[in-house]
Amino acid sequence: MNHVAICPGSFDPVTLGHLDIIERAAATFSRTVVAVLDNPVKKPLFSTAERCELLRKATAHLPGVEVKHFQGLLVDFARAEGARVIIRGLRALSDFEAEFQMALTNKHLAPEIETMFMVTRPEFSFLSSSMVKELVRFGGSVAGFVTPEVEEALMAKRELLQR
Ligand code: ADP
Repeated sequence: MNHVAICPGSFDPVTLGHLDIIERAAATFSRTVVAVLDNPVKKPLFSTAERCELLRKATAHLPGVEVKHFQGLLVDFARAEGARVIIRGLRALSDFEAEFQMALTNKHLAPEIETMFMVTRPEFSFLSSSMVKELVRFGGSVAGFVTPEVEEALMAKRELLQR
């Protein structure tokens, strides 16, 4: 039995919705690797190093959780980590189509790896990194959506968001 799971994403930046999924993965698997996508084409607000650092701080209390970044195919990264499970969070029906396509593609590429979905907690069902960035852009509070460290990091980038 293999007990390693991968939680992939952009995490630009990590929200309490992401953390809920990571916590639940950590309670289910002996090792959970949070895999931060290193893709400059997506033009993230936070650099890969910044996104990893914020995630490390936010998951420091969770046993068996590691934060790493990857480039290229997720299934190649999962194989290199010895993981047999990819965890994705589902918020709404609107997430489903893209997730379904990605899960089927990954199954085709790596039949031994399973994609498993965790349904969001209702209070986070509307929460996304983009929504949080929009709030900061227009001067709204993000307390209750992200950790205090992430809030501080967002405030430091506020000017960039307003350009
Ligand atoms: P990506 O760009 O790969 O979708 P994200 O960083 O936006 O990366 O999301 C990473 C994972 O976390 C995805 O599986 C996404 O569905 C999930 N997720 C994001 N926000 C929430 C939330 N509020 N509740 C549950 N899952 C979420």
